[in-house]
Amino acid sequence: MRYLSTRGEAPVREFEDVLLAGLAEDGGLFLPETWPELSAEEWRALRGLPYAELSARLMALFTAPAISEAELLTMTRAAYAGFGHAATAPLVQIEPGIFSLELFHGPTLAFKDMAMQLLGRLFDHVLAKRGQRVTIVGATSGDTGSAAIEACRDRAAVDMVILHPEGRTSAVQRRQMTTVLSPNIRNIAVQGSFDDCQDLVKAMFNDAPFRNEMKLSAVNSINWARIAAQIPYYAYAALALGAPDRPVAFSVPTGNFGNVLAAWVARRMGLPIERLIVGANRNDILARFITSNDMSARPVEPSLSPSMDIQVSSNFERLLFELLGRDAKATAETMTRFRAEGRMPVPDAAWKQATELFHGFTLSDEGTLEEIRRLYAESAYLADPHTAIGTAAARAMRPADAGIPVVVAATAHPAKFPDAVEKATGFRPALPPRMADLHEREERFEVLPADLEAIETVVRGHARRNAA
Ligand SMILES: *Cc1c(COP(=O)(O)O)cnc(C)c1O
Repeated sequence: MRYLSTRGEAPVREFEDVLLAGLAEDGGLFLPETWPELSAEEWRALRGLPYAELSARLMALFTAPAISEAELLTMTRAAYAGFGHAATAPLVQIEPGIFSLELFHGPTLAFKDMAMQLLGRLFDHVLAKRGQRVTIVGATSGDTGSAAIEACRDRAAVDMVILHPEGRTSAVQRRQMTTVLSPNIRNIAVQGSFDDCQDLVKAMFNDAPFRNEMKLSAVNSINWARIAAQIPYYAYAALALGAPDRPVAFSVPTGNFGNVLAAWVARRMGLPIERLIVGANRNDILARFITSNDMSARPVEPSLSPSMDIQVSSNFERLLFELLGRDAKATAETMTRFRAEGRMPVPDAAWKQATELFHGFTLSDEGTLEEIRRLYAESAYLADPHTAIGTAAARAMRPADAGIPVVVAATAHPAKFPDAVEKATGFRPALPPRMADLHEREERFEVLPADLEAIETVVRGHARRNAA
């Protein structure tokens, strides 16, 4: 499979280069040159496969010819072996016609593990083959950092430095990062905000001599491999509910649009996905786009679902490119105007086409707490605030045909957001047994000022020591 950029000014690339590069040179995002499609018969033949096998089968369509299905299977088995559920991503019925696809049984209790656990292994595989190493630097407000650390711990060809704002992450979030004592992982608590951390990472990437010397890399949510690794769980759920012989719908609590984009790709590959419901908190730029073609950025406001506190959904560019008939020039112009004016001018015809599949839904913090309470009272189901937005959206926006089941992407374990769950239900959810001792584990991190030179010195020392 070869890949092109949504902005049309970058050379066509193979999967391995797309994996290591993340962003295309022209500032665009990579997409496959053509979409692989499976016939109904081919989909039926995948029913009942264990998750790791299904994942290897589908991922192979995107990694060929460089990485074979057999190589992928070794990686997917290892990636999902550490999950706390034998089904990897179990499907649980929560009310008539509505199911929860639990994507949070990985090491950091959120759906990002589904892709990241595989990505860390893909990086190692490709770098070992090429005899290269990279230094991955990243900034986190909590969730992404821990998923990246768990994915890259003990990987031979990867060194990693993650910056988090000192004292501004929850104890669970911090400890999920700082209790990983692997020699290739370094945590820095920056005396500043999350924005300071992000600015420091950007400054490191903009420091060309430093970037080249350290072979800096990133594993952020625009990496195509992350999207690809999220496709299999949509297929897993759809097949379990009768696809390709029965249509299904998905409801996805959304921030950067990466998770729901993978569902869109699954549909493009031939699964009968009738409807995609996009759930949002008060930061509802995507829901506003879908309901009224109003894609205008507003200041980010904190909510009970912090992983969705995002105003510019970077992965939307991939859908935009498709909606514009794969016109790279028009995509580049639209994105440039969005950056300049804060409002994305999507042609009405493209927007109308999007609304045939996508439905938007916004829920306030109060509504989110009420939904957590209701689900627990009526179905004894404990949802985290992100998942609760998905379940409320599923009920509000489900297809008229009751024969079409709606699957909610359950993106975090309730114990990852215990304060909100306690507020709604009156009790604190327990961490799963395998991490019950998180608060007793040894932590390791250093506190540094928000100063580029100080941070670069630590990154350099870390990469050198491990390369020696
Ligand atoms: C990252 C995240 C989301 C949003 O996913 P996107 O791919 O950015 O849309 C939703 N819920 C949780 C718990 C997350 O960590």
